[in-house]
Amino acid sequence: MKAEILAIGTELLLGEIVDTNSAWLAARLADLGVEVWWSVRLGDDLDRVVEALRQALGRCDLVITVGGLGPTDDDITREAVARVIGEEPRVDPALEASLRRYFAERGRTMPEMNLKQAWLVPSAQSLPNPLGTAPGWLVRHQGRIIVTLPGPPWEMERMWLEEALPRLQLPSATLFRRTFKTWGLGESAVAELLGSWTRCPEPRVATYARLDGIHVRVAARGSTLEEAQARAAPALAAVEAALGPFIWGYDDDTLAGLARQLLMERGATLATLESLTGGMLGQEICAVPGASDVYLGGGVAYSASAKARFGVPSEVLERSGTVAEETARHMARAACRWFGADWGLATTGVAGPAEIEGKPVGTVFVGLQGPGREEVKALSLGPRPRHVVRQRTVYAALALLWRSLSPEPPG
Ligand code: ATP
Repeated sequence: MKAEILAIGTELLLGEIVDTNSAWLAARLADLGVEVWWSVRLGDDLDRVVEALRQALGRCDLVITVGGLGPTDDDITREAVARVIGEEPRVDPALEASLRRYFAERGRTMPEMNLKQAWLVPSAQSLPNPLGTAPGWLVRHQGRIIVTLPGPPWEMERMWLEEALPRLQLPSATLFRRTFKTWGLGESAVAELLGSWTRCPEPRVATYARLDGIHVRVAARGSTLEEAQARAAPALAAVEAALGPFIWGYDDDTLAGLARQLLMERGATLATLESLTGGMLGQEICAVPGASDVYLGGGVAYSASAKARFGVPSEVLERSGTVAEETARHMARAACRWFGADWGLATTGVAGPAEIEGKPVGTVFVGLQGPGREEVKALSLGPRPRHVVRQRTVYAALALLWRSLSPEPPG
């Protein structure tokens, strides 16, 4: 099955928002073995959307539109679909009633403008949207399918997964994918270890450089998921054998989630003290559900005086400066002491754009303190943009913790 995604919204063409919806949908469709042949972004212009829809219906079996289902004049997706299939939209009484109820439940009167969100054409089934006011449509027309989804990502995702998919007879899953996430090797080193696998047409093995390390994706097709997985099996085994000690996770795993799990297994607690990351490390850890089971707290010690207040000895700061191995070591100790944690992680470094204390942009020290263990990792991350240096430092800190907590610390 061939699919096309039409992301509708002038904001997308002005570069004001990034089209994450199409990326999300493309990934879900790939999982189902549906091939996305085209993915188009277009403005809120009726003629252009009509033209794009006609073109899409001429070349794909499934056409998914995202956005333009709002109540205002520039929300023209419904008009465009109705025009392309030559049907007249009418207000559907049941949809109107549910829309009025939506507003009444929030103590508001529905502006008449919203009535067009209760439109339906004869070939369309309505896709409910309990998270917003814009229901979607599922239209079957001359052997083709059109699905219209709203723009806000959380509304779009729910509608696709819970309303559209169950009503569609899509082919069963035919693509198997597994992502291996590694830390400690560069992309070319990973490619070298994988040898000829990266040149194999099926199963496909591809490497991707991400901020949390090099990812390796193995993908294979089959008429069933089991068959696809069986085809992928030799590549999965080869990647595991080649990169084993460097693999920290798979698919949706995150370093912070892994750190929480490893700390839980040990019944241990964690605290952080951050300089250049300014709280980003704590934020990453707190993004994991259940972080409070292991994370006691964190501090941002940005200036030398703040570092001293948390307990980094003044003579260390005077001797080595704020960006130094010794300082990172004392910061990690201070994190443990201050919060009474078993493990402490600390970051200090030069985020840029200017050097600090004669140290170039990207000079970073990550300190770790734990039961019977003390380590400082020196990194050279420059010259890279400030946000990249800071985010990469967060992952380096979590990776250091992962290595220290892993049963058999690799490499
Ligand atoms: P609403 O009734 O909420 O207006 P809508 O279907 O009309 O829904 P749009 O007005 O097109 O949706 O978009 C609403 C918001 O959704 C945008 O301002 C943007 O924040 C987000 N959004 C829209 N399209 C995309 C997209 N392709 N990727 C990511 N976010 C998007």
